[in-house]
Amino acid sequence: MYFNEEHNALRNMVRKFVDKEINPNIDTWEEKTVPLHELFKKMGDLGLLGITYDQKYGGQGLDYWFDLVFLEELGHVKAGGVPMAIGVQTHMATPAVHEYGTEYLKETYLRPAIAGDMVTAIGVTEAGAGSDVAGLKTKAVRDGDSYVINGSKLFITNGCQADFVTLLARTSDKPGYHSFGLFVVPTNLPGFVVSKKLDKLGMRCSDTAELFFDDLRVPAENLIGKSDEGFIIQMKQFQHERFFALPGTYVGARDMIDMTVKYIQERIVFGKPLIKNQVLRHRLVDWITEIECLKQLTYHIVRMKVKGLDVTREISMGKLLAGQLSFKVSNGCLQMFGGMGYMNESLISRNFRDTRLLSIGGGAEEVMKEVIARYEGF
Ligand SMILES: Cc1cc2nc3c(=O)[nH]c(=O)nc-3n(C[C@H](O)[C@H](O)[C@H](O)COP(=O)(O)OP(=O)(O)OC[C@H]3O[C@@H](n4cnc5c(N)ncnc54)[C@H](O)[C@@H]3O)c2cc1C
Repeated sequence: MYFNEEHNALRNMVRKFVDKEINPNIDTWEEKTVPLHELFKKMGDLGLLGITYDQKYGGQGLDYWFDLVFLEELGHVKAGGVPMAIGVQTHMATPAVHEYGTEYLKETYLRPAIAGDMVTAIGVTEAGAGSDVAGLKTKAVRDGDSYVINGSKLFITNGCQADFVTLLARTSDKPGYHSFGLFVVPTNLPGFVVSKKLDKLGMRCSDTAELFFDDLRVPAENLIGKSDEGFIIQMKQFQHERFFALPGTYVGARDMIDMTVKYIQERIVFGKPLIKNQVLRHRLVDWITEIECLKQLTYHIVRMKVKGLDVTREISMGKLLAGQLSFKVSNGCLQMFGGMGYMNESLISRNFRDTRLLSIGGGAEEVMKEVIARYEGF
């Protein structure tokens, strides 16, 4: 219906890549960290890091259905930290450069990011400002042809390995949303410090950092858009970030269910396979039904995106549902595995830990509800 031979060819390519280049390495990467330069170079060579981006900068120039196919296949990766790192590169740190960056920024930063020659990070959250983005304190003060940046960022994915950070900083002390600039900040400049690599519950193969900016002088030409438009641009960029989470969630949740069904078909308890208990079958069917709802909402969003419509309301609903559903499914499947599900050796325990982030990161569940309530007019 939506997919032709070209979409299927992309699907096969990504599936093979996940099976060959990602999943066999997951256990090692969970112990250490994903080597992003190595992984992204391979993906860049296959054209996977700029599917919807302009061909002029090395992108594929394809429509959002191709993007959906790519993201659905990433849903089969056996640890959330890898797709999250990829998503930062493709859907979180670069959309603003693509949409609002100058020719210079696109040539100098977007092109190498698409090629996999540069690793990116998105720097919004601070110790005192997560859900309330406008509360951030990192300052960018204009000084001649540069901005001088001082402050810190917390929980930054890819932060230890990034070549540049797309950074939201305060450019004025005026209250309101027109006091921020979004900058491309190369990490090789003096004053950039990775102050800490953070330890986490899940997404263990992902590199999460605390960053520090100490009188870091970035050329004024590294500003994306105008010096008072950064907040608005970042809010738009968040829509790409939140969309990114949807396909991987319904595909990943379905994988969890398939794995669980296989287990409970074989697991004999009270003299019969666990699956013979109607209560468990019905629970699985409830989840499969909700997974289908999330998938169809996502397809609806893609149809709207293709038409250039505002999808903020629908993406917020999708992100809300994705967080709730992945928690419900990973928690419920773990329960069906019993003690085995609690063991680190079972994939479901990793699924449970990794998916917990979805209701917090990139806009917490309550923040999504506030956005939806605003669209509903109350
Ligand atoms: C593993 C990981 C990776 C991350 N990667 C990045 C990254 O790459 N770049 C980046 O900039 N940030 C990143 N983040 C930060 C993430 O986006 C924030 O953690 C998130 O936005 C929530 O902010 P906070 O942690 O400050 O929670 P707070 O803002 O302190 O909120 C705490 C809790 O309060 C609740 N809450 C918030 N607002 C309301 C409200 N209005 N009504 C009721 N309840 C509310 C929510 O449940 C929320 O979880 C990452 C976080 C994690 C854990």
